[in-house]
Amino acid sequence: MRSLFILLLLSSNCFAKPLVVTTFSILGDMVHQIGQDKIEVRNLVGPNQDSHVYEPRPQDAKELGRADLVIVNGLGFEGWIDRLIEASGFHGKKLVATTGITPLQITYHGKVYLDPHAWHSLKAAQVYVDNIVKGLVELVPDEAPFFKKQGEAYKQAIAQLEKDTQKQLESVPLDQRKVITNHEAFGYLGRDFGLIFSSPQGISTDAEPSAKVVAALIRRIKEEHIQAVFIENISNPRLMNQIASETGTKVGGVLYSDALSAPGTEADTYLKMMASNLATIVRVMKKQ
Ligand SMILES: [Zn+2]
Repeated sequence: MRSLFILLLLSSNCFAKPLVVTTFSILGDMVHQIGQDKIEVRNLVGPNQDSHVYEPRPQDAKELGRADLVIVNGLGFEGWIDRLIEASGFHGKKLVATTGITPLQITYHGKVYLDPHAWHSLKAAQVYVDNIVKGLVELVPDEAPFFKKQGEAYKQAIAQLEKDTQKQLESVPLDQRKVITNHEAFGYLGRDFGLIFSSPQGISTDAEPSAKVVAALIRRIKEEHIQAVFIENISNPRLMNQIASETGTKVGGVLYSDALSAPGTEADTYLKMMASNLATIVRVMKKQ
């Protein structure tokens, strides 16, 4: 009996790496950067996909069902996750990566929402890192020194990008720091770098903007002489192209909002995504 028990223990757990499920590609990369080969990371909403309107697949429930830890963004970003966790029979721990971050509030159509897109703050991202390190240390205590070392190096790289970008923005006058995107994903980036983002859609992408909202934005672009609009990687470019042509502005490029780009391309990690977004914005602003 005893040997059977040991055999079962060996076959089920001892040689398999702990399985961590993340909800979207940006979080998946952060967890991979810290956990490396000590854990297995499976991510649900992939590159260039929209988490706001994601419809979980049957295999997502299967994956979650055998996971040891699930890491979510929180702040209402993944409206579908609680139902999925319940359906999956998940028995591990749930970590909310935004724990301890003071969320921005945003008013849209007279209603106040918490802004879930906190990863666009390079300062808040370092809180994500601390939370992830803590979660992984609890999951694999033997690897605590490794996770802490990875986390520290990662935070340093994130802080360096913030410093470099602040320097590049120094020469851009405040009244030129205006950016138009599809939905309100960049509030934290705006706060940190003194940029003003405007969007026809709210903090979610689940509803098409009304003609009235689009018309008001077009008026504002003309009145404030805003020079460029940006297309988000998770959104249909049609609306932004329409706004650009009606206002005579140019399309300044692609910004990665709620997902990384495909593996092997310019924004396939969190750090590359942030660097790409900031370089795109700075480039357009310096041309104005
Ligand atoms: Zn979003």
